Amino acid sequence: MTTKVPQRRCVGCMVSKDKPQVLRVVKNKEGEILFDIKGKLEGRGAYVCKSTECLEKAIKTNALKRALKSEIPQEIITLLREEISRKDFIEANDDNLLKIWGLLGLCAKAGKLSYGDSGVYEAVTKGKAELVILAQDCGKNTSEKFQILCKEKNTKIITLSQKKDIGKAVGKDEKAVISVNDTGFAKSLLEKL
Ligand SMILES: [Zn+2]
Repeated sequence: MTTKVPQRRCVGCMVSKDKPQVLRVVKNKEGEILFDIKGKLEGRGAYVCKSTECLEKAIKTNALKRALKSEIPQEIITLLREEISRKDFIEANDDNLLKIWGLLGLCAKAGKLSYGDSGVYEAVTKGKAELVILAQDCGKNTSEKFQILCKEKNTKIITLSQKKDIGKAVGKDEKAVISVNDTGFAKSLLEKL
């Protein structure tokens, strides 16, 4: 049995992609432009890959505007940019998650983790962090701060699961952000994703 994934064409690169790989912008009956995060809103839809390159191209060439026959409000563009910057969100399956929690537990015991805002900030700034893990529910400011910092410092950053799960894995309370300060552990972890 084969299941066919619906395809949607990106207005940036003009390539048809599997539906989960594109973002949907919709113009509803009232003529409002909305970012349709769940892909379920009614109206005329336009699609763009979850890639900065495609989004910026779609904006610059007015492809998004043409597809919807409407100006795209700045706040919608901001939302799309934000969503794409979060694309490192990992939808690990349960099996892999269990392995990841196991590894993080070992990491914690080995003293190779930094915790929380200031701890992780210091680890990244000092070049100790090999991998930063943000909780999906970490809050916008924390997310932005670490996305920018990690980009600057060329440190790999991923978004994974919830604060409570990360905290539990490392034997602590809720943790919005942690860093793995060991090359080997970071590598093993990334292989599980
Ligand atoms: Zn594209």
